Amino acid sequence: MGLQSAQTAHFRVFFFDRSRPDPYYCALMFEATPNKPLPRLGDPRKFAQQGVRLSGHVPLSAFERVCEVLADTSGNAGVELEFGISAERKLVVTGRAHADLVLTCQRCLNPVTVPIEADIALAIVIDEEGAKNLPRQLDPWILADEGNADLYQMVEDELLLNLPAVAYHPEPCIEVEFLSSGEPEVAPAKQNPFQVLEQLKGTPKK
Ligand SMILES: [Zn+2]
Repeated sequence: MGLQSAQTAHFRVFFFDRSRPDPYYCALMFEATPNKPLPRLGDPRKFAQQGVRLSGHVPLSAFERVCEVLADTSGNAGVELEFGISAERKLVVTGRAHADLVLTCQRCLNPVTVPIEADIALAIVIDEEGAKNLPRQLDPWILADEGNADLYQMVEDELLLNLPAVAYHPEPCIEVEFLSSGEPEVAPAKQNPFQVLEQLKGTPKK
């Protein structure tokens, strides 16, 4: 019995080594803060067969459709992707995309930063027909052509799906009296960052 379990263990290690040539290195890369750009182009079907993991950042300015709703297009989205083959033998990509998006508050019309977390769970299919018979947890990624695909476009779709319909500051950002009376009161004074700097500079150091 001791021998049998030793053999099983050996088999597991062997199998693991074969499927993931360098599991520890991959795991570290996957968890590290993405500080290098995510490649825009890649072959998702090949990646799935090879079990490729990618992580990196994408400048928000690369997402044209997302930029249409942004009050500030600087900054990056962080992306982690793991390609593979699912239990149902589908070619899949899972992972997440996250970004702090600066949207416009629909109450005070000032910028509001909204953290977006997109969980990605896609099956690569060739057409709408292939998209119909997927397990519930997988959404279709329709790629009619073999070869390279635009990974940024896929990530952008996932971000768009997770955008709030309307953005508001979590705190009351407009005086209640202003809302009820409709009087054109001056909007709540915004503190000018340069004034704050001046104040700091003017503060005598102890
Ligand atoms: Zn607001």
